[in-house]
Amino acid sequence: MASSIQCPVCGMAVDPQTAPSASYDDQTYSFCSEECRERFVADPGSFVGNTGS
Ligand SMILES: [Zn+2]
Repeated sequence: MASSIQCPVCGMAVDPQTAPSASYDDQTYSFCSEECRERFVADPGSFVGNTGS
C-alpha cells in the first residue's frame, strides 16, 4: 500500500507524481499547489519544525 504524502504547509494530501516539489535540508517535499510551495520556500524551517539546534 502506498503511503500518502501531505502538504507540509496546509496538511492536505498530495500526489507526489504530479505535485510541485522543493528540496530543503536534503529532503524533497511535495505540495498541494504552487502557492503552498512558494510559502514553503520562503520560510521552510517554520513548516518542517526544524529548530536548527
Ligand atoms: Zn498545501
